[in-house]
Amino acid sequence: MFRATAGVHPHHASELRTDDLPRLRELLAAPEVGAAGECGLDYFRNFSPHADQERAFRWQLELAVESGKPVFLHQRDGHDALVAILKDYLPRLAGGVAHCFTGDGRELHDYLELGLSIGITGWICDERRGQHLRELVREIPLDRLLVETDAPYLLPRDLQPRPAHRRNEPKFLPHVVKVIAGCRGEDFPTVAAATTHNALKFFGFPDAAAR
Ligand SMILES: [Zn+2]
Repeated sequence: MFRATAGVHPHHASELRTDDLPRLRELLAAPEVGAAGECGLDYFRNFSPHADQERAFRWQLELAVESGKPVFLHQRDGHDALVAILKDYLPRLAGGVAHCFTGDGRELHDYLELGLSIGITGWICDERRGQHLRELVREIPLDRLLVETDAPYLLPRDLQPRPAHRRNEPKFLPHVVKVIAGCRGEDFPTVAAATTHNALKFFGFPDAAAR
């Protein structure tokens, strides 16, 4: 079972034109497309000017509202601006996920208060950069937790044995779930079942809500 997302990453925000929006609207209406995104703000790389990023983000939020599908949010160094924009659409939006969450406690609780789900990747397996996430992941309610690969990026750093290539793959997800479960003091089957259920529901797989 697969679902796609459809959207324009903030890196490419400047390339998105009003002429493209009907095509994006069409993609979002397809049953195989489960969410709008990745969309959001990346003020870390700044590959597109902030004004372009904000405009493209608002367009995609509007399309997400229209489609009745949730948003798959990318954010780096743009938390406050993203929250301010998101608040204009949230009452009409079918939810969203803060994808590849690597932020601090304030950001986490802002997202939780807004009703978002939180996507955790193999970043949490990084003994240097992921240390704070190991604490914070305990504060995410189990029904708001999603596990992501971000493949081909973010190969978990503590895999044993270490793969010869640097490419991340979905087959390493159970390892990430094990690390998350360990941090939360929960067992692997509990976290695996809950996050699978959450993902099925988020991406609109049939009958997921009943499982
Ligand atoms: Zn991203």
